[in-house]
Amino acid sequence: GQCITHCPTGALTARDDVNRIMDAILDPAVETVVQVAPAVRAAWGEGVGLSRAEATPGRLAAALHAVGFDKVFDADFAADLTIMEEGSEFVEFLGSDKPRPMFTSCCPGWVRFVKLHYPQFTAQLSSAKSPHQMMGAVVKNTLAAEAAEAGKRLFVVSIMPCVAKKYECDVPELATEADADVDAVLTVREFNRLLRMVGVNCANLTETPFDNPLGLSTGAATIFGRTGGVMEAALRSAAFLITGENPDFSVCDTTDATPETPWISRELTVGDATVRIAVASGLENTAKLLDALESGEAAFDFVEIMACPGGCVGGGGQPIAFNCELASDRAGVLNRLDADDTLRYSHENPDIAQLYADWIGEPLSHTAHEWLHTDQETWQI
Ligand code: SF4
Repeated sequence: GQCITHCPTGALTARDDVNRIMDAILDPAVETVVQVAPAVRAAWGEGVGLSRAEATPGRLAAALHAVGFDKVFDADFAADLTIMEEGSEFVEFLGSDKPRPMFTSCCPGWVRFVKLHYPQFTAQLSSAKSPHQMMGAVVKNTLAAEAAEAGKRLFVVSIMPCVAKKYECDVPELATEADADVDAVLTVREFNRLLRMVGVNCANLTETPFDNPLGLSTGAATIFGRTGGVMEAALRSAAFLITGENPDFSVCDTTDATPETPWISRELTVGDATVRIAVASGLENTAKLLDALESGEAAFDFVEIMACPGGCVGGGGQPIAFNCELASDRAGVLNRLDADDTLRYSHENPDIAQLYADWIGEPLSHTAHEWLHTDQETWQI
């Protein structure tokens, strides 16, 4: 493992990957594939002088093409895929007698924290890999043959709000066979520097869509970038799986928890089941929640944890702004994108349905386990 003992998100020892990525872009034997996390679209413009109105997802995709990446995909697509897997896992979990709660697993800062400090809960983490790891596995498994025919090898880059993901992509147990799912991670700050190095004039770019077939996503995926978003997205699809209807509830439309209320909790009725959920962000709040679960003072069925206060919008790799206001502004950007999206449920993403039809079969299938899940008890970041 890496030496990030004192900082669970890895922000104190971040390594710089800009030069490695430029080398890959300039290598004619390499096909570079890039993906951007949900929270990146809410903050990337801050570091290159764009207003929120100018820093659209379309201009972000154009900027990535301008840097020279061959394929520009969206980690939001993989967030929808994560929901298909994790939502299905949760529905199975609800019908089982496994110890409560099930915890989300897409934040490597949280995953590292629980494995180090509360290992008794490790087995209760979802087995779903995080979205960018899922995307890497899908890219490597579905596009490598085509690249090889053209005499190229794939190099997958993730643009992330997160420093911990630099270390997550190196975990050997998260590789599909011997090949890492993701070859390198750039933080948003590094991405901003890359744009300046290459001399991209972002304000003048014409908006372009993400490339397909791994570029289409739903509003449920976009809200992954703020605290409560993964829970809400998972429950939108889990409720559909249980009742056959899309729910109209919003599970986390509240402001972030305060020191007096370290977590937000709800009891939701889904079909015949009552589902007790809780959401926390920031590791101080997380420790309080885990202590309450341990003592029996609190009991939940499903818990979402994000290591950074406010979730990935306030991530350690985002443009620097040491205040909470910005995290909440950025969350507002994601909420608006979700509200304006014509697709708001991961199970309604037609390209996700196609991916299952062509390659994976169904959620939790054998291939899904090979590509998209991990045994949480076997590895440490
Ligand atoms: Fe990374 Fe997001 Fe977790 Fe922060 S909250 S450590 S940015 S995944």
